[in-house]
Amino acid sequence: MDRILEKKGFICDMDGVIYHGNKILPGVAEFVNWMIENDKKFVFLTNSPEKTPHELSMKLERMGLSVSADHFYTSAMATSEFLYSQAPGCTAYVIGEAALSKAMYDQKIYMNDVNPDYVVLGETRTYCFEKVEKAIELVNKGAKLIGCNPDTVGVKEKGVIPATGSLIAPIEIATGKKAYFVGKPNPLMLRHGLKKIGCHSEDIAFIGDRMDTDIIAAIESNVDSILVLSGFTRAEDIGNYPYRPKYVIDGVGDIVKNIK
Ligand SMILES: [Mg+2]
Repeated sequence: MDRILEKKGFICDMDGVIYHGNKILPGVAEFVNWMIENDKKFVFLTNSPEKTPHELSMKLERMGLSVSADHFYTSAMATSEFLYSQAPGCTAYVIGEAALSKAMYDQKIYMNDVNPDYVVLGETRTYCFEKVEKAIELVNKGAKLIGCNPDTVGVKEKGVIPATGSLIAPIEIATGKKAYFVGKPNPLMLRHGLKKIGCHSEDIAFIGDRMDTDIIAAIESNVDSILVLSGFTRAEDIGNYPYRPKYVIDGVGDIVKNIK
């Protein structure tokens, strides 16, 4: 544990690490307060493009945690920065929540439903046939297809719901074009997180609850990985993967549990 405590910074996944749905997980307040008190650099990373950093900050506030908006990085932000780096001044047809459109506007990527450079999709409850039909038309006309994350399902308190990977599949099948996915396990997200906190990869640890997205992204970014068992992955699942996390703990509370 001492090696972990010595890290200058942490990149943390959110769902399954910090909270589950709207419930904060045990030991999280102690861990976050320890990071703040010890001047650790930290950023919360999420594959969900549905909320802006301010909305995520407010969500944690409601759970009793005070973390400012500049500590959050979402797949909506990563997607818009990726598009800006690929084609500054490009336009997009977006199927997603307001937070995704806002991230696009922040990179001066404007909406276009006639001849956009990109069709971008992120989780949304406003998904409908007309939008999928439009997306297919635009991809067939040459727009490139981008998904905010490849997740096929999201875990909610009552079960699973379709995530970007599932929602984009009809467009891929109908057009015969494969989407490019920006969120984890693409190491782009983690590299952006590193840049945001201004640390070198050896100085930080990445904390996540999924072997197939979090731990692989950490390994591919050459960052020490900490798997928490408070979320998606069970201890008995770890052996099913051809790679392993550097550390395995029950939850982030374990990191600060024995500090006097
Ligand atoms: Mg998670």
